[in-house]
Amino acid sequence: MIKVRFAPSPTGYLHIGGARTALFNWMYARSQNGIFVLRIEDTDQVRSKDEFLQEILDSMQWLGLKWDEFYKQSERFDIYRKYAKQLLDEGKAYKDGEAVILKVPQKQVKIYDLIRDEIDVDTKELKDQVLMKSDGSPTYSFACVVDDALMEISHVIRGEDHISNTPKQIVIYEALGFKVPKFAHLPLILDDERARLSKRAGAVAVTDYRKQGFLSEAIVNYLMLLGWSPGNNQEVVSLDSAVKKFSIKKVNKAGAAFSLEKLKWINAQYLKQMETGRLMELLIPFLKERGYVDGNVDQDRLAQAVNLYKGRIATLVDFLDWADYLFIDDVQIIPEDREKYLSQNFSREFERLAERLNQLIEYNMKTTEEAFRSVTEELGLKASDLVHPVRVALTGKSIGPGLFEMMSVLGKEKTVRRLKEAFTTPSIRREE
Ligand code: GLU
Repeated sequence: MIKVRFAPSPTGYLHIGGARTALFNWMYARSQNGIFVLRIEDTDQVRSKDEFLQEILDSMQWLGLKWDEFYKQSERFDIYRKYAKQLLDEGKAYKDGEAVILKVPQKQVKIYDLIRDEIDVDTKELKDQVLMKSDGSPTYSFACVVDDALMEISHVIRGEDHISNTPKQIVIYEALGFKVPKFAHLPLILDDERARLSKRAGAVAVTDYRKQGFLSEAIVNYLMLLGWSPGNNQEVVSLDSAVKKFSIKKVNKAGAAFSLEKLKWINAQYLKQMETGRLMELLIPFLKERGYVDGNVDQDRLAQAVNLYKGRIATLVDFLDWADYLFIDDVQIIPEDREKYLSQNFSREFERLAERLNQLIEYNMKTTEEAFRSVTEELGLKASDLVHPVRVALTGKSIGPGLFEMMSVLGKEKTVRRLKEAFTTPSIRREE
């Protein structure tokens, strides 16, 4: 029976590295019809915080990594004490004050690692191991070994940064007479300078990516590529199909480079393929938070806005930044754009265009374009002379989708008003 565990310490948020470890354990369990255990390693009662625990659970749920069994080490101190006493009684451990310390025998130990094959370690280099601290709490390694053994963990899959703990833990398994599990040490996650991923390089909490508008399926997809590949250079792969192909033995030894650009690219692919209705549901909380919509969302207008930007955005927050002008009353035009596109006074031309648009009975992409072309022609201008000034006046941006698509989604009333006010009330708008 395959049984694996993810064992976070709630002393901080769930970061990219932890989420990758959780995911690989989860995928391995699912691919082998095994069991996935979530074990909270909260023996350090000073540094462990409920707030972090809650955030870890939320992030796991958000990522879709359901666990089959759940434990908290803080509820298991009696068990660790019992095994410490057993080792004392057997003469394998001794006391130093209140602390319990394991005598480490000198021998060769073998680590069986599914990614790195066999690793031989000489325990000569190991000092005697503290099992229970003088305050009565177990050390990380002791609690970890007791739990992995009692929970019948078959494979310990964790980051390479734990490799130096493994021989120390094997010595504890052997002292307790427990079966040693197999190990898999996942490659480090590196930043673009090939250094261990730090906060600066984007190793932020899963929640932060969520707030930045990344989708859980895109994060999961990206995480699985950090050390593993589904083959055929495939990069966009659903969790279901990844589970079918996943093999822990195929995980790389070499460090995996983290790239925010790649994560954004994957997110954009998911956004592009997403059904408009689902994208709307995901966007509504973001729109509400910015005050762009209230309880009564105009579903049709939102669907039009979403379709306008779906293929162009990398994150949900990108949508808010690009489409803001559709939701707010007055657009903000940055001084450089005003200078570049609106320094020539087009008030007469804008007025004429506004009038013509206002008369339209059917207001859509086609009719706005016809109106725009006939007005520019009558005024002896090229369409291109007015495209940029009008775009900036309507949207506050110098780039974006086609002008007539935007006009039609913006609607007649706002379009007409913004054209009329672009030069008549410049004082308010110029001095943002
Ligand atoms: N609580 C340890 C950590 O957060 C778990 C290490 C392990 O998987 O054994 O790093």
